Amino acid sequence: MSKEIRIDKFIIHFTNKDVKRINIRVKAPDGHLFISAPEKVSIEDIKKVVLKNRVAIAKTVDRIKKKVAETPSCSYLSGDSISYLGENYTLLVDFVTHKRLRHIEINQRMHILRMETRETFSMEVRHQQLLSFYRVRLTEILNPLLEKWTQKLQVSIAKVRIKQLKSMWGSCSSSGNLSFNLALIKLPPELIEFVVVHELTHRLEMNHGDHFYAIMHKCLPDTQVLNKHLKSYTTEV
Ligand SMILES: [Zn+2]
Repeated sequence: MSKEIRIDKFIIHFTNKDVKRINIRVKAPDGHLFISAPEKVSIEDIKKVVLKNRVAIAKTVDRIKKKVAETPSCSYLSGDSISYLGENYTLLVDFVTHKRLRHIEINQRMHILRMETRETFSMEVRHQQLLSFYRVRLTEILNPLLEKWTQKLQVSIAKVRIKQLKSMWGSCSSSGNLSFNLALIKLPPELIEFVVVHELTHRLEMNHGDHFYAIMHKCLPDTQVLNKHLKSYTTEV
């Protein structure tokens, strides 16, 4: 039978069983410790061992938690759910062996995102595969929007980049260089347009003052609603 105890800052699941020595395992996702020990070992003994090794254990716990935080929540297996243009798509993974470019296709009617990959490709490689697909699709979506709104607002732009930004959807420099977050691909089209209009409005007004919002409101009367809606999305892809 396992007992749950707390020693220092560690949560421990402790079991006495038929083992030769004390085993300590730190398990993902929350870094709990699973300790098994021979029958004669008491909780007091375990306390001593844990406290003696607390620095090394804490390091392992931190490493595991960091790893979990960095791992994409999607495992890139058939059945996974993917956000795309504001809707949930089901991932369908097809393992292929041919050498040609492994592609990804979207079936909008069936809400299926079909991905060709190799069985041997790691999760990280599949993640990168999806990111390059997103980049192509987002470019196709942004280009006509940029054309439409640069004309309407009568503004010019310099370079346009798509990046993985940590906490922003986009940015606009005073020289007209625009950056857009790759995670925009998760948003419904009207929110992508809202971000485009926001950044292009900065070509007329750098600050988020009354003048800025007056222009935004003229372009998109629903600005406030869209802004609120945008806040319900995270900026990670
Ligand atoms: Zn802004």
